[in-house]
Amino acid sequence: MAEQTTVPTTLRRAVAHVDLAAISANVRLLRSKLDGATELCAVVKADGYGHGIERVANAAVEGGATRLAVVTTAEAAVVAELDLGVDLLVLAPIPADDLIATIETGAELTAWTPEHVGEIDRAAQLLGRTVAIHVKLDTGMGRFGARTDEQAHAALAAAAAGVSVLPKAVWTHFATADEPGDDYFDLQLNRFSEFVDAARQRHPEILAHAANSAAVWRDPASHFDFVRCGIAIYGLDPFHEDAFARGLAPALSLHSYVASVRDVAAGESVGYGRRFVATAQTRMATVPIGYGDGWRRVLTNNCDVLIAGRRYAQCGTVSMDSITVEIGADSTVEPGAPVTLIGTDDGERISAEEVARRASTINYEITCGLLPRTSRDYSPVG
Ligand SMILES: *Cc1c(COP(=O)(O)O)cnc(C)c1O
Repeated sequence: MAEQTTVPTTLRRAVAHVDLAAISANVRLLRSKLDGATELCAVVKADGYGHGIERVANAAVEGGATRLAVVTTAEAAVVAELDLGVDLLVLAPIPADDLIATIETGAELTAWTPEHVGEIDRAAQLLGRTVAIHVKLDTGMGRFGARTDEQAHAALAAAAAGVSVLPKAVWTHFATADEPGDDYFDLQLNRFSEFVDAARQRHPEILAHAANSAAVWRDPASHFDFVRCGIAIYGLDPFHEDAFARGLAPALSLHSYVASVRDVAAGESVGYGRRFVATAQTRMATVPIGYGDGWRRVLTNNCDVLIAGRRYAQCGTVSMDSITVEIGADSTVEPGAPVTLIGTDDGERISAEEVARRASTINYEITCGLLPRTSRDYSPVG
């Protein structure tokens, strides 16, 4: 067959379609698992896990999130600008140089030493604002937070005694919420629960929060005043299995198109390093998405794509700008045909969890790993 390379100019090489209604629906599903008084804080860090922080923040609030959480000053500024009328929490400690800019966003801040609380207090006084402090206790994640209850109580006391700060909440983070059956989760939860009781004796109004998405399913005792959900609001499975089985709706699908089709004879190779050599006459489709778009090279000879509702194996090295797919000698697939890398096509489905398994990683890293060259499309589905 004659090689064709011209395709309609409206096709875009790598497009992540994000279904915002799915995000709102996932937030509603999560809320249905909480008792009436428990709120949902949507975690929209890392550009909304690659989905687009602004759109996600809007959709989450639409679905009933009453709080939003981020990690960096820049993320806090973007969310604050949306003026959604919900509380905003910064989960990570903010470097001194960024303190003023962060306080100006109106966000609530994390701290766990009296010194850090004092630093925030001085910056807040300069700005004439009051900052709500969430004191973090490290119950076993081993990264951030007070290592002892005494230190956490001292940070709370400093927040209560400060001029322009106030103690708002105590919190912790689980290391193994997504590993059902382990004991460590319960150890962390027990340690935190005891600390919450003691903190409430001194500060009766103080809030408590601990649960990530997995913990929402795992144990209602971990829900406290609000849960902090990231992965599940995007419709991805916190337990790395099947999001659909959990009632979640995956919000992101990833698309490209067939840019070129060519016949390959037995013995001919395709791609860098000749990692695909045809054993018989066949036909290959070249798809313009590669690791420069976030489709990782570790997927070389190790993923499938969907074309017209059929699964095809990716063959040969994933390069920066393209991948190649064996469509078979008799294929009628033509240039311009839509290709789905994550998502559903006519009943066939490739989930982010499947791609993650192939890449020896987790679904979080698949969507966070989509690079700026992948455009985002928010047009409503069907
Ligand atoms: C990212 C993050 C979350 C969200 O976790 P998911 O597993 O995505 O629900 C919650 N809490 C903290 C502290 C985080 O950093």
